[in-house]
Amino acid sequence: MVMCGIAAYYGPNAPLNTYKLLVELQHRGQESAGISILSKNSIKTIVRPGYVLTAISPNEVSRLDSQVAIGHVRYSTTGEPGSGVGTQPITLSSNGRSISLAFNGNIINYRDLSKEFLNSYIPSDAEVLARLVLKLYEELGDVVEAVKNLASLVRGSYSLVVLTPEPRVVIARDPWGFKPLTYSFNGEVLAIASESSALEVLGFDSWSEVGPGTIVSFDGKSLEVVDSGVRGVFSPCVFEYVYFSRPDSVFNSVQVHEARVRMGMYVGGMDNVDVDVVIPVPDSGRSAALGYSIVRKVLFDEGLIRNRYAGRSFITTPDVRDFISDVKYGVIKSVVCGRRVAVVDDSLIRGTTMERIVKILKCRGAKEVHVRVASPPVKYPCFMGIDFPTRRELIASRYDDVDSISKYLGADSLLYNTVEGLRWAVKLPSLCLACYTGVYPFKDINVEVLEKVFSRW
Ligand code: SF4
Repeated sequence: MVMCGIAAYYGPNAPLNTYKLLVELQHRGQESAGISILSKNSIKTIVRPGYVLTAISPNEVSRLDSQVAIGHVRYSTTGEPGSGVGTQPITLSSNGRSISLAFNGNIINYRDLSKEFLNSYIPSDAEVLARLVLKLYEELGDVVEAVKNLASLVRGSYSLVVLTPEPRVVIARDPWGFKPLTYSFNGEVLAIASESSALEVLGFDSWSEVGPGTIVSFDGKSLEVVDSGVRGVFSPCVFEYVYFSRPDSVFNSVQVHEARVRMGMYVGGMDNVDVDVVIPVPDSGRSAALGYSIVRKVLFDEGLIRNRYAGRSFITTPDVRDFISDVKYGVIKSVVCGRRVAVVDDSLIRGTTMERIVKILKCRGAKEVHVRVASPPVKYPCFMGIDFPTRRELIASRYDDVDSISKYLGADSLLYNTVEGLRWAVKLPSLCLACYTGVYPFKDINVEVLEKVFSRW
C-alpha cells in the first residue's frame, strides 16, 4: 500500500535523467528510492532506503549505461511503514519473461487477486501487481495486453510503469483516474513522471496526462496509446490538490497552486473574525494562505519557518512523525508578537502538528491564534493510498464538533473549508472526496466493509 512517485526515461542518459525526475518527485516518498535499467539485455535494479540523493549517489547513476530506465520513490501507508515490504521497482522473471514494475496507489482486492491468480499469500499489493502482470505477460505473450487486463481485474488506485528487456516501457492509469501520471514525447525521447512539474524541470515544455483506463507503450520506435475500454466513475484524489502534489504541477488540467489559492479564498469568504496578519504553515499551506489574505484584505507574512531538513512529517513513518513535529518550525517573533494571527494550513489530519504550532505562536507572543484549514474535516480513512488509516486517529473523527477540536489545539477559533468550497476550488466535474464524505467510488463498498478488510493486515 503505497503512495509514491514513479518516473521513467527512454533516450540518451536514461539512468541519470530518471534519477533527476525522482529527485523532483522526492516529496511523494522519503522511505526508499529505486531504479531499474537494462544491462546486457537483462534488468538490473538498485533499491535502497532513504532519500534519492543519499540512497543512490549521482556518481553511481552516472556510471550506469542504459537507453531506458524506470524509478520509484516510496512512502508506505497502512500496515507496513518501515518494513521494507513493497520497495520498488520490483523485478521478476519467469519462463524467459522478465519485468520490472513501479507503482503508485493502493490495491484494495490484492488478497483476492493473490489467492485467485497466484495461489499464494503475498503481503504486498505492489508485489501482487508485479506477479499478476508477469503471469498475464506469460499467458498472453504481450506485456501491453497484460497491463490492459489489470483495468478489469484490479479494484483500487494505480498509476504504474513497467519495463521489459525488449526494451519497452509501458505506463497505465486505473479506470477511476485516482493518481496523476504524465509523459512527454518528442518523437524520439519519452520521459514519464507522476507529476508534470518534474518533466518541466527537466526541460520538457509540453506533456500529456495519461487518461483514466489508458495504457501508453513505447519500444524506442513507436508510441502506442491503448484504451482498456474499462471506465470507473472519474475520481481523481482531491488530496493531491490539497496537499500531496507540488503547487507547480498540473493534474487533470488544473494547476495545483491555483486550486489551493481558491481553497483559501473560499475559507476567507466564510470568515468574520478580525485578524492582523495571515501566516501560512509552510510549505503546503502557503498558496491557501495567499488566497485567504487576498479575500480578507489582511497582511500576508511568513511567521513560521520550516526546518527544511526535517522532511514531510505526513509521509514519514509514525515512529519519527512526532519527533519531526517537535523540531519542524521556528517562529519569526516580530511577525506574530502582540498580533491576532490567522494561521492557514492545507489540512488537519491528526492535529498533533497544529497543536504544537499554536503553542509556539502563543509562546512567541501572539495575542490570538485563529486556525484556518483549506480543506474540510477528514473523518474517514483512505483506502486508495493516502495514510489516513483508522477513524480513531483522525482528529475530526475523534471529536464531535469544531469547538472541541479548537480547544484541543489551544486555538482561539477554528474554521474549516467545506466540501462545496473544495469542489468550487478544484473546478472538476467529479472527484474522490471519500475521506471527507465517507462515500467511496467503488460500488457496494462502504467504510465498514473496507475497515474490516484492512483490519486483517
Ligand atoms: S479518500 Fe481522500 S485521500 Fe483517499 S483517494 Fe479519496 S480524496 Fe484522496
